Amino acid sequence: MSINVTRSSMPTYEEYCEEIKELWDSRWLTNMGVKHKQLQKQLEEYLDTPHVTLYTNGHLALENILEAMGFPKDSEVITTPFTFVSTTNAIARNGLVPVFCDINDVDYTIDVDKIEALITDKTVAIMPVHVYGNMCDVEAIKRIADKHGLKVIYDAAHAFGVKYKGISSANFGDASMFSFHATKVYNTIEGGAVCYQDDSYVQKLDDMKSFGLFGEEGRYIGGNAKMNEFQAAMGICNLRHIDGEIAKRKAAVERYRERLGGIEGIRLCAEQADVVSNYAYFPVVFDGYKYDRNEVFSRLKEQEIIARKYFYPLTNSFECYRDYDTAGVEKTPVASYIADRVLTLPLFADLSREDVDRICDIILN
Ligand SMILES: *Cc1c(COP(=O)(O)O)cnc(C)c1O
Repeated sequence: MSINVTRSSMPTYEEYCEEIKELWDSRWLTNMGVKHKQLQKQLEEYLDTPHVTLYTNGHLALENILEAMGFPKDSEVITTPFTFVSTTNAIARNGLVPVFCDINDVDYTIDVDKIEALITDKTVAIMPVHVYGNMCDVEAIKRIADKHGLKVIYDAAHAFGVKYKGISSANFGDASMFSFHATKVYNTIEGGAVCYQDDSYVQKLDDMKSFGLFGEEGRYIGGNAKMNEFQAAMGICNLRHIDGEIAKRKAAVERYRERLGGIEGIRLCAEQADVVSNYAYFPVVFDGYKYDRNEVFSRLKEQEIIARKYFYPLTNSFECYRDYDTAGVEKTPVASYIADRVLTLPLFADLSREDVDRICDIILN
């Protein structure tokens, strides 16, 4: 039987139908209706954070929060190329310049020792990524940002529900973006949110995601990025089950670790100290193993098991960034090394122990 790299978490059909019933009766389908309000409140509680602004996807949440910060055009934002291209595009689409910092060799988040060398008088912000749900070194990043007067916006698309020293991943930096895409740990079909402490963003983001209108007044040149009621209803259902889904992912990850840990040439991410994980992804680096990454990928594919070369290629190698002075994988050698060797294995709540074993057997034999 084929196994995909991921499989969306869903409520039962009956549970979702029950949740959307009142939408049929009210005929209020979008524009911050009851489900939108309810989900926003529930997420503020679940993520233990003062403000959540909901979006129709995570990417537009990232674009909007950057725009709301109002940086001058051509300002520089330090980020990593070892991410989904959304991070880099959100910077560039705001007329800002992505400056690519390398990642560290341990958890593949931004290498905090290489950030300061990239700061210029044009730098306005740092946009690190909690890749695979691994938390960045939030303390070091805060020290650097405070010292140089920079904003910090986390791409926390992978870090829903993660905690560091008991603090929700939503509460670090000036803002954090979560993606609720169907493939993520928690989904609203498509969807996303930005979380932040500063009260002044609440009205601004609400206006910006709805054409920049405040009543009849055009305050910003906004687009349309509202989450609709059916997305919110899916989110309300999925939030009821999230802790159970994460516990099931944990069991799959523990089995992977038992089978693949301690094998020469296979590198697993160590569990991070002081972090409560959401088990979002299971990245494996094949470095000096009897098969290289591409061979493992192909052997799994022959058995209809789809792993993912995530993140490969790096965004600083993309054709659309070729004309940026900051592009080029040679500037980020660790990211380049890992991108050539990493594979994320199938991982989702309903992945059975037998399937994990089958995947490991193919890799090991
Ligand atoms: C999924 C993802 C995004 C984009 O989120 P969408 O909800 O799909 O728009 C951004 N950054 C990272 C790292 C992601 O994995």
